Amino acid sequence: MRYSGFRVLAEGLRGQRGWAPVWRDPEPKPEYDVVIIGGGGHGLSTAYYLAKTHGITNVAVLEKGYLGGGNVGRNTTIVRANYFLPGNQEFYSHSLKLWEGLEQELNYNAMVSQRGIIGLCHSDGQRDALARRGNAILAQGDDAELLDRKGVERLLPFLDFDNHRFPVYGGLLQRRGGTARHDAVAWGYARGADRRGVDLIQRCEVTGIDIEGGVVRGVQTSRGGIRAKKVAIVVAGRSSQVAAMAGMRLPIESHVLQAFVSEGLKPVIDNVISFGMGHFYISQSDKGGLVFGGDLDFYASYAARGNLPMAEHVMEAAMSLMPMIGEARVLRSWGGIMDMTPDGSPIIDKTATEGLYLNCGWCYGGFKAVPASGDALAHLIATDRPHEAATKFRLDRFATGRGLMDEEGTGAQHNLH
Ligand SMILES: Cc1cc2nc3c(=O)[nH]c(=O)nc-3n(C[C@H](O)[C@H](O)[C@H](O)COP(=O)(O)OP(=O)(O)OC[C@H]3O[C@@H](n4cnc5c(N)ncnc54)[C@H](O)[C@@H]3O)c2cc1C
Repeated sequence: MRYSGFRVLAEGLRGQRGWAPVWRDPEPKPEYDVVIIGGGGHGLSTAYYLAKTHGITNVAVLEKGYLGGGNVGRNTTIVRANYFLPGNQEFYSHSLKLWEGLEQELNYNAMVSQRGIIGLCHSDGQRDALARRGNAILAQGDDAELLDRKGVERLLPFLDFDNHRFPVYGGLLQRRGGTARHDAVAWGYARGADRRGVDLIQRCEVTGIDIEGGVVRGVQTSRGGIRAKKVAIVVAGRSSQVAAMAGMRLPIESHVLQAFVSEGLKPVIDNVISFGMGHFYISQSDKGGLVFGGDLDFYASYAARGNLPMAEHVMEAAMSLMPMIGEARVLRSWGGIMDMTPDGSPIIDKTATEGLYLNCGWCYGGFKAVPASGDALAHLIATDRPHEAATKFRLDRFATGRGLMDEEGTGAQHNLH
């Protein structure tokens, strides 16, 4: 079923009786060409591009819970391509271009909103660093504008510009950055993959990976064994656990990251704002809630619920930046399990086991990567060669030390990436 304005009108007149389920609920088949473990944003987009770009449709996505129940449905929805280092730059640039055509391509309203993202600076040194980043972004072919204090004032008059500790000096604006409705992105890719014949199998936990003579043969699941010629591990915060089923020890730590939403307010924040003196970012959802988040909880954990010290830290950053937020009530908070690499950049690579692929290490920023990540992993699975936008996301950089991409320049400290 194609969605359109006409369809909405027609269904309105017919009592909404014509809508069909958005995807099937198939039983797992005994064998697939490709099995993707994990029905988050990256697993679903990989399945979609395998089918669409490479014509590989005998594919199953195995999800232990429900589609979109992981980080893809828990994030603060920020989309941007303002990276500094080669490797990250071309990848996120590619991703942003895919975002721009996504809704038409998927025939699904993912509420992609290019409302602009502003990263603030609070010292001369930070302003220099932002100028350098902006130049790198322009050289890559994406958009960046360096704003002075007045330029920021015009867009965000409610900030505490003269805060004693963190006065606002200016910011770097990327107008093409913004937000997207996170779970709709998962649903849109799921629908697109299902329409092309991919089996999306929910409540199917992978409990083992079958390997014979260094070659992957399939997976064991809570719904029985499934044979597969190729298997991709795309499970974000659970990457270490699932890779251990194949005898691998990954350079990944899992940490909880919290997010918060306020009660619904009239439109007040038009852009996405990123604080320069700590990890704090905020935007306003279309329903009116202020959506914001900060740092990891600072210790490795698989708990999908955060702790109060970090909640307090985030609220303090919010109050330093925009004291008016103290008038709003926080409606709820939640957590997601982040797959943190030592350099803060991701991995899309083959493993030492033939036919076994890995996609992980998305740290704080994997939502914006969903389109390009799926495109790149599908390319790797189909051709056994890395996609041109993802050649640097190699697993062996953590063993050799060559090609590390420490985007934030903070070293191997997970909380700082
Ligand atoms: C609070 C928060 C805020 C964030 N904000 C942003 C942001 O603003 N912008 C941005 O770019 N990124 C953001 N991120 C990061 C982003 O959400 C993640 O990097 C990205 O969603 C991870 O990839 P995914 O969608 O595939 O993960 P997930 O949605 O977590 O998918 C992985 C799936 O694998 C499944 N799985 C795990 N183990 C198994 C198994 N054994 N068998 C079968 N299935 C299994 C899980 O159930 C899960 O559904 C944020 C994350 C959090 C938690």
